[in-house]
Amino acid sequence: MTANIRVTIWNEYRHERRSEEVAKIYPEGIHGTLAKALSEKGFTVRTATLDEPEHGLTEEVLENTDVMIWWGHMAHGEVKDEIVNKVHQRVLDGMGLVVLHSGHFSKIFKKLLGTDCDLKWRESNDKERIWVVAPNHPITEGIGDYIELEREEMYGEPFGIPEPETLVFVSWFTGGEVFRSGCCYTRGQGKIFYFRPGHETLPTYHNREIQQVIGNAVNWANPTATRKLIRGNTPSLEK
Ligand code: ZN
Repeated sequence: MTANIRVTIWNEYRHERRSEEVAKIYPEGIHGTLAKALSEKGFTVRTATLDEPEHGLTEEVLENTDVMIWWGHMAHGEVKDEIVNKVHQRVLDGMGLVVLHSGHFSKIFKKLLGTDCDLKWRESNDKERIWVVAPNHPITEGIGDYIELEREEMYGEPFGIPEPETLVFVSWFTGGEVFRSGCCYTRGQGKIFYFRPGHETLPTYHNREIQQVIGNAVNWANPTATRKLIRGNTPSLEK
């Protein structure tokens, strides 16, 4: 099943090219690290980045993507609305979307959720403990009671999102804050998963458990049940 899922990893890819600190952790970009991890799990993976024509998200790419992964931060405003609209339509038509970390402020996430998606944050090397709060959910497969990250950026509540359809993870930070860090939604026929960790100056996406969750999320968001919807003016079934 996994082998047939076509994943497009979209990354803004600016921090890695501007900061030596980030480039050391992700020499081939965050998308490169995630592509390697997901390929090893058997997914069919391609990558796309902001500075490619059409941000790498041509009609052909969108048509041939089952699940898209989204990482963005410093250049959310540079993502063209016409591309956002196309991705949005693909989600409504059934494409899965996994939004990572600072993608909470991306145009596509805010448009799909309809709220400001704002939060508290702090870069101070807190420890993060990501608790599983939906233990039988497929996104938690292979994960114990929690994942511990020695260092991460803090994100804190209140997180400006609609009530998740399923809350899968809740994070605790050494500063005392908590955060809804794994949230499931459906929009149209598309499944959306938001997953919090992944600050660019830290090696979070090299962590095997984090890679496991992202792989699980791709499997979960894969549009297996998508059907062509019949809408519009409709004749009566009865005479
Ligand atoms: Zn961050």
